[in-house]
Amino acid sequence: MNLSDEELKRYARHIVLPQVGGSGQRKLNSARIAVVGAGGIGSAVIPALAGAGIGELTIIDSDVVELSNLHRQPLYRESDERRSKAEIAAHFVKQLNRFVEPRPVHERITAENAVDLLSGHHLVIDGSDNFATRLAVSDAGVSLDLPLVSAAAVQFQGQVGLFRSCPCYRCFVGDAFDSDDCDNCAELGVLGALTATVGSFAALLAINAIVGIGEDQASKLHLFDGERLEWRTIRIPPDHHCRACGSA
Ligand SMILES: [Zn+2]
Repeated sequence: MNLSDEELKRYARHIVLPQVGGSGQRKLNSARIAVVGAGGIGSAVIPALAGAGIGELTIIDSDVVELSNLHRQPLYRESDERRSKAEIAAHFVKQLNRFVEPRPVHERITAENAVDLLSGHHLVIDGSDNFATRLAVSDAGVSLDLPLVSAAAVQFQGQVGLFRSCPCYRCFVGDAFDSDDCDNCAELGVLGALTATVGSFAALLAINAIVGIGEDQASKLHLFDGERLEWRTIRIPPDHHCRACGSA
């Protein structure tokens, strides 16, 4: 599939990069990515992926816009209050890049429907705000052999990592949180600009993984401290007793 003149112009700043080029741009154009959560992290991820020309973008979020979202979710405006985030985000994508096919899913992703909603994608980015959703998305990703970029931000702390089958996200957090929205930022708070930082990092991880830029980042977790303004990276060991990916 060759790029049209219009696409060559649109993606010129990508194509000129030796690490991307025309072939990397075509990989982006034919990629299907699911974004879980069109909140603070999604508000950074979705425009970055739409601008990059990801071929198909599924946006899964059951929420409607609330006034308390606006400090960290620049996809939405005051006049969007009580409207579906997935629908507005999809409309934003279409207006930014008509070569991207957005698929809004105004539904909560759960352990019951995650495999159905995520199958057929090349990668999933999870920017949801609770452990039950993150674990449901991770387990579905393991069973579908779907790479997962997991991103989270609460208060001043951010974390983002790429998981390919094993170790999975469940290896990292264990089983304690399946039914518990224990770090929901509604109670704990979150700095608005932090979600954008973490979301942009997540989009970069996803784009690099699709194109094949740099060394593979799987099994590493990148942690950001928004007070000290420092990143550090830890390695996640596989949990052989993990009930999603373990061999035991
Ligand atoms: Zn695991």
